[in-house]
Amino acid sequence: MALRLEHEVVTLHTRHPFIIARGGRSDWQVVVVRLIDSDGVEGWGEAYPSGYYGESIEGVQAALTAARGALPANPFDLEGAEACFRKVAPQSAAARGALSTALHDLVGKRMGQPLWRLWGLDPARAPKSSFTVGIDAPEKIRQKVAEAGQYPILKIKLGSDHDEEILKTIRAVTDKPIRVDANAGWTRDRAIAMLPVLKDYGVELLEQPLPPADLEGIGAVRRASPGIPVVVDESCLVATDIPAVAAYVDGINIKLAKCGSLREALRMIATARAHGLLVMVGCMIETSIAITAAAHFAPLVDVADLDGAALTVDDPYVGAGIDHGQITLPTSPGLGVRRR
Ligand code: MG
Repeated sequence: MALRLEHEVVTLHTRHPFIIARGGRSDWQVVVVRLIDSDGVEGWGEAYPSGYYGESIEGVQAALTAARGALPANPFDLEGAEACFRKVAPQSAAARGALSTALHDLVGKRMGQPLWRLWGLDPARAPKSSFTVGIDAPEKIRQKVAEAGQYPILKIKLGSDHDEEILKTIRAVTDKPIRVDANAGWTRDRAIAMLPVLKDYGVELLEQPLPPADLEGIGAVRRASPGIPVVVDESCLVATDIPAVAAYVDGINIKLAKCGSLREALRMIATARAHGLLVMVGCMIETSIAITAAAHFAPLVDVADLDGAALTVDDPYVGAGIDHGQITLPTSPGLGVRRR
């Protein structure tokens, strides 16, 4: 069954400039991938090229060109196909994640079942998703919290020069649970000094307080933490990273754009569980293709932050929804994503 690979660059716009500790912007480019079999069945996937991890649109396109000559003769051989993609496109987890997603979508469509069902999962077990508030001035923060009305949990980006002001502004307008992501933007001293402040404001989870390589420091923050779990994102990309971080953290954040494969995401969950870690699923600013792919394994995780498409104003696709935080998974075959 010969497969054909097509791709297109899609530009997304966030409602507000989306700003984290290392900067931000309003327009975001992703690459949408389509694998089409000889019966015309299409599998869809999406690549988010994160500059932080050395990726670019050009790099994704080059990786897809390399993969074009290595498409599987049998799309059901997901393991073999992904091994092949790692060989021909080692430099782009984003491109491999898109190909993996497209193959899974295609296989699900050919089998007539949604991915979550093929994986034996119960959609009702997916945790509620948070909604992210990026770094901003107090009046914009108040506006964003108001816009997040239907979401029961907020994730707050910190690592700015006015973190206390941001927390104070949010707490003045809402008593929702809040989680904090410093995106590697703090020093050890700053992080440890912030812990009682986070506690005072009722923060329930702290993500990536320090630069990814400073595991000793992250461990020190965790030891000093007044019961707030410390989760790493930038420190943990794939399953083989987990044994090295396990002693220093309470949990890991899995993202398709980092791990480059839905099968790898499942391996990360198993590996993290074997180390007794809490498991979070996160996302980038992405369309409903990538968000839905991650949502399909959300029933296996403890914490979800799958608001990437919800932060945009022009998502061209419809897939997994978020209804008052509850992730709703499509029941149609494969990913269950359609054009808006
Ligand atoms: Mg993060």
